[in-house]
This record gives sequence, C-alpha cells and structure tokens, in this order.
Amino acid sequence: MATYHVTLIPGDGIGFEVSAATQRVLDATGIGFAWDRQDAGTEALAKHGELLPAATLESVRRNGIGLKGPITTPIGSGFRSVNVGLRQELELYANIRPGRTMQGVQSTFDDIDLVIVRENMEDTYAGVEFDTGTPEASEVIAAINAHARRPIAADAAITIKMITPEGSRRIVEFAFQYAEQNGRKKVTAVHKANIMKFTDGLFLRIAQQVAANHPNIEFNDRIVDNMCMQLMQKPGDYDVLVMPNLYGDIVSDLVAGMVGGLGVAPGGNIGKDAAVFEPIHGSAPSHAGKNEANPTAMILSGALMLRHLGERAAAEAVEAAVQAVIAEGSSVTYDLRADRDPAKAATTSGMADAIIQAMQA
Ligand code: NAD
Repeated sequence: MATYHVTLIPGDGIGFEVSAATQRVLDATGIGFAWDRQDAGTEALAKHGELLPAATLESVRRNGIGLKGPITTPIGSGFRSVNVGLRQELELYANIRPGRTMQGVQSTFDDIDLVIVRENMEDTYAGVEFDTGTPEASEVIAAINAHARRPIAADAAITIKMITPEGSRRIVEFAFQYAEQNGRKKVTAVHKANIMKFTDGLFLRIAQQVAANHPNIEFNDRIVDNMCMQLMQKPGDYDVLVMPNLYGDIVSDLVAGMVGGLGVAPGGNIGKDAAVFEPIHGSAPSHAGKNEANPTAMILSGALMLRHLGERAAAEAVEAAVQAVIAEGSSVTYDLRADRDPAKAATTSGMADAIIQAMQA
C-alpha cells in the first residue's frame, strides 16, 4: 500500500489539539501516512524568529501536500498573514470550501450542499496597495488621472483590483473539473460584471468560454449581491459556485454560517504542484490548550485531502463517521450542544475517539 508523505503544520492556538485529533482519525483509516511535522505561527516565531519558516515551505514543496491547523496573525506588527503567504509562495490558486448541512448541527437551513471555489491569487488580494498621502500613491493617482473620466482625489488610498485571463481560466476550469470528478451537475460564475465591466467582465467572458467546453455540466452566472439573496431564498438551485477572490472570501463565510458555523467548515488550497488543506476557522485563542475545541472542521479538511489523494473510500468513511457522531449527539464538543455547556460536552480528543470508533464499527 502507498505511503503518503504529508507535511503536518499544527499551527498554533487550538491548532495543536485539532491537528492531533485529525492525525489520529486519518491514521485510523488504515491509509499509510508519513507525517512531516513543521512549525508555523507563534511557536515558529519564538523558535525560528519567523512565522513561516523556509523549512516549512520547503517541506510542502517537497511533499506536494500539506494539512494545516489555524495560525494566529499578530495584529499591527507588520507581519504578513502566514495563510496568505503560503497560498502565494506555493501558488495555491484554488480555494475550495464545501458547505453541507449535517444532522445534529444547529442551523437555520437544512439540505444545503454547496461548494465554493474561490480564486486565491488575484483580485484586490494581490497586495498592490498605496497608502493615503504617500509619494507612491500620488504617482499612481497622477498616472490614472491622465486617463480617467472622473479624477481620483489626491489623498485617496488605492487598492488595485487585478484579474487576468489566465487566472480566470484556470480557476473556472478547476471548478468544472471538480464538478465532473465529484458528480456535481452545475457551475455558477459569481461576479459584478455590470459595474466592473473590465475586470469582472473578463472573468465572466472567460467563464462562458470555459463552460462551452464542458457541455455535460450546466452553467449559469449571477451578480454577487443577487447571489447572496438567492442563497438565502433558494439555495437548492445552486451547486458549485466559482468566483474571484474577494467575493469568494465573503460568500464562503456566508455559506459556512448557513451550515452551522466555523467549527464544521473545512477547506483546501490547491495549486498545480502542491495542495494544503485547512479548516476555515482561526486559532480561537480563548479555547487554546483546554482540549475543548471542535475538531470537525480540521477532520473534514483531512477528508478533503483524502479525496484529493484519490482515496475516496477512506474520505467517505471519515465523513460518514463524523456525521454519525454529530447526529448521535452525546460525544460532541460544547459548540455543537444546544446548552453549550463545556462540563457536559466531549473533549476534542474524546470526540476524535468517538469518530474513530464509529469508523471501525
Ligand atoms: P476564530 O475562527 O479563531 O474564532 C471565531 C469564533 O469561533 C470564536 O468565538 C471561536 O471561539 C470560535 N471557534 C473557531 N473555531 C472553533 C472550533 N474549532 N471549535 C470551537 N469554537 C471555535 O477567528 P478570530 O477570533 O477572528 O481569529 C483568531 C486568530 O486566528 C486571529 O489571529 C486570526 O488572524 C487567525 N485566523 C487564522 C486563520 C487560518 O489560520 N486559516 C483563519 C481565520 C483567522
């Protein structure tokens, strides 16, 4: 049987606990893993003087696959987010976030089964920004004003929105391939092309071209504000949603909220040469070190990783065990209980034990 060499980045905060739980669940699938444990986050800063050590990046490059816990971004100290850093350094251009309701998870909605595919490298997240009153901003504003119909104010702060044909094509292509490989029926491109005619207009045009090459998958498009309203009114009309970076950031949190919140929302960042799977939630410092955080989002991120590795049966076994434990309801962490009482709830490791037992049953 194959052994997968996987870079395990526990992260910090609750990352240590949810990663340990996930590692045990994945080992219990019987698939061979050689875990290459690497530091990132506050522990890495203390040990190596940097949040994202070169050795951690090198390990993901070498193994081509990583499983990552949440990482604290120190505020106001000029540190770049490790999460954004990893995505950019490894060119993990596709962020995938499934949102599915599970019996036993409190939510206003039921029967939600959506997949958000978010472009990870471009848009207003490319990091091309100019602060108010700086000489660089003045230079950029002067250059723009030489061409603009309406001048930009001299003291404006500027963020550049950048969308390329290649970036759009590869993310939309990714969404269609995901749909085909995972039995999905429809892809919806989400945009604001009525206002941003060139950037979002380009994204939409390319999406239409790519769709024409996948006649087996239904295609439509929605303007992002209308999309949000429709997700509230008739989410069952949608399946896989593909969109530029900023809309993806917002709409995926909306969908995470629709299926019961951050504790159960997995994610993955996928590129040509590497992929890193991680929960959507952060390091939840107030729960760190107490063995009480919900490991579900990270365990389901592990299941996404198994799917990516082609280990579909093992992925389905993990997902089914997680769903069985949550539906049964007696071995879940505090956040999944109606009374939210940590004294009556399972611990992080206790919930992992129950998931492993359900898998072996
Ligand atoms: P957070 O996701 O850590 O917490 C938001 C809320 O959800 C809190 O009430 C928290 O207790 C709860 N929560 C989150 N995950 C949970 C879990 N698994 N089980 C139970 N409850 C859970 O978001 P935040 O407080 O805005 O951010 C904290 C830190 O995490 C910040 O430094 C932020 O930059 C970082 N962050 C990292 C990532 C990442 O590594 N991908 C993502 C988001 C935030």
